[in-house]
Amino acid sequence: MIWRSQLRVPWPENRCIVCLGAGPLCEEHLIPQSLGGCLTSEFLCSSCNSRLGHNLERAAKSDPSVLLAVRHLSKQIPSLAGELLESHPHIGYSERGAAPGYVKNGAFRVRSQSLDDGSIIQPTDDAAKSITTILKRAGYEKSPIERAVAALREAPENKRVEVAPILEIVKWRTDRIALDLSKTKMMNPLIPAKIAFEFLACHAGTAIYDEVPQLSEVRQALCTMETVSDSIRVDRLSSNKYKPFHGICFEGNDPHAIVQVRLFGWLAFRVHFLKLSIGGPRFIYTHRLDTGEEHAAIVDKPRR
Ligand SMILES: [Zn+2]
Repeated sequence: MIWRSQLRVPWPENRCIVCLGAGPLCEEHLIPQSLGGCLTSEFLCSSCNSRLGHNLERAAKSDPSVLLAVRHLSKQIPSLAGELLESHPHIGYSERGAAPGYVKNGAFRVRSQSLDDGSIIQPTDDAAKSITTILKRAGYEKSPIERAVAALREAPENKRVEVAPILEIVKWRTDRIALDLSKTKMMNPLIPAKIAFEFLACHAGTAIYDEVPQLSEVRQALCTMETVSDSIRVDRLSSNKYKPFHGICFEGNDPHAIVQVRLFGWLAFRVHFLKLSIGGPRFIYTHRLDTGEEHAAIVDKPRR
């Protein structure tokens, strides 16, 4: 089966599969929409959807592996890469130093900041305003202020220039920019666990509501989002190649239910539901991020 439009898994009940609360249920993206995911179903209540959505999706898109994968794939998935990379902090490097900033419409823009030595770093177009304010406060007349602003415009890059007797500037040239990965965190393992649990629900149907300990513990972990429980283990794997696709595969029940979640072809998780077995046919789902094509198929042969 191949879909070019968004694939939506039909859901027969009006009860949330995580908190078991009554509906109304809302549309849920199995793979976070912030990562380009488009497979949906309606099996979460709005409270679980927003809790899982807000906390986990935000964490997913600042995972350093996700950012690096997206940067590698930026030619193949330019719009998603633009969205993910431009919302993330960058560092601009110049021969005068390095400064934090961000990328907007493909161009680096430094963040304004005051340094301990009394100097200010800011975008060049803002600097003209600051020069005017500083000199006005110091009692300067209009014409020396205009000369100072003109001197800023004409200043050579990377050279210290006096624009007024009390003020010097350096117009940095940004030679290179890089993602600022210093404050990023590896993805919470509950993100792949959530994707895998929802994919299992697509297999299990209403059996996912069974109030047995092995399912209750998984639901509890997704409700509290504090830790992966004794019922789930998430192994982080990686292949050697970035590819513009996401995939989810139910690998079978040997020795317990295992779901593989693969993001950007490269970042992969094997989610073990240590106390669960799920019957029925197994599915594999893939979504090509460059063409938008989704593919779901039954996997016939059990895999060891
Ligand atoms: Zn709920």
